[in-house]
Amino acid sequence: MSRAFWLEMSRDEIHGGGGWSFTKCLWSPAYKTNGQSWAFWNTLLEVKEGDQVLHLRGIGNAAAFIGYSTAELDGYVTDESPPDPGIWEYAKQYYRVPLRDFILFPQPLYLVDVFANNDFHLREYFNQNRSKLSQTKLRLFYVIQADRLQCLNGAYLSEVDVELAEIIFGNDFSDRSTAEITVKEVTTSEAIRGLRTRIGQQEFSEEVRHNYGNKCCFPDCEIAEDRFLVGAHIARWVDAPELRGKVSNGLCLCLMHDKAFEAGYFTISEEYEIVINSELVGMSRWARDKLLPFEGKKIRLGKVLPSKDALLHHWIRTKFY
Ligand SMILES: [Zn+2]
Repeated sequence: MSRAFWLEMSRDEIHGGGGWSFTKCLWSPAYKTNGQSWAFWNTLLEVKEGDQVLHLRGIGNAAAFIGYSTAELDGYVTDESPPDPGIWEYAKQYYRVPLRDFILFPQPLYLVDVFANNDFHLREYFNQNRSKLSQTKLRLFYVIQADRLQCLNGAYLSEVDVELAEIIFGNDFSDRSTAEITVKEVTTSEAIRGLRTRIGQQEFSEEVRHNYGNKCCFPDCEIAEDRFLVGAHIARWVDAPELRGKVSNGLCLCLMHDKAFEAGYFTISEEYEIVINSELVGMSRWARDKLLPFEGKKIRLGKVLPSKDALLHHWIRTKFY
């Protein structure tokens, strides 16, 4: 799975009204008027809590990326309908994803500029995506039609991976916004920087999980489901900026082992063996039962080995050193 973001493309300003309005949630009817499902609505049910959602709003020359938010829950089916469903009133069921933490770009990033400034890369990206196998192919928000880049009509919720996000939010934007606005320049670049950091973290997390074959690397841990796994940092980014984004600074851990590692219940030796903090572990029954028996056992290694510098940072932070 290489998706980093979802992209909501909303043409109408009201879009649902009330708690269903723009940036409060994503929603769509569950089916078209003819009863058929629609690929860019089905995507709502694939959204997981914590996923990032970019917002593209408006039509024609006014269409612009205006900010991003975070999914508050997994996508779900509901019999409730929006206060103002507009032309989607016919539906008896809807898909919905509540959102939180909306971040507005003070300066909208206009789609016409994105298309004009990145024409070559967007075409190249589109053609690469088209040639992929259907399982890895992303459902994109744009097409090449009559030899022009155009929004795909009805692509309400599409997928954006790191590569595409970087094309869209490349350097063009920060240069251009600095030139165009003075007062809001700082906050705009901050918002974009925040987004870039998220893109970077997402990419890091994916690479780390991939390095460990998408399975928790704690000895004998069987957890291999994407949603229960994290690409964890060994050294925190604040402590070791030089290790930022390096796969050797990551471990693929399940949620429990990530928590325990993060809190210093255990660390990993230079020989990649589990070392227990007996004081902490003594205070938790779970840790006593589930961590202690693995003292001295080796973690499952990936292709890229954990960096010794990163481990040193973890030992210092969690008082193993
Ligand atoms: Zn685990």
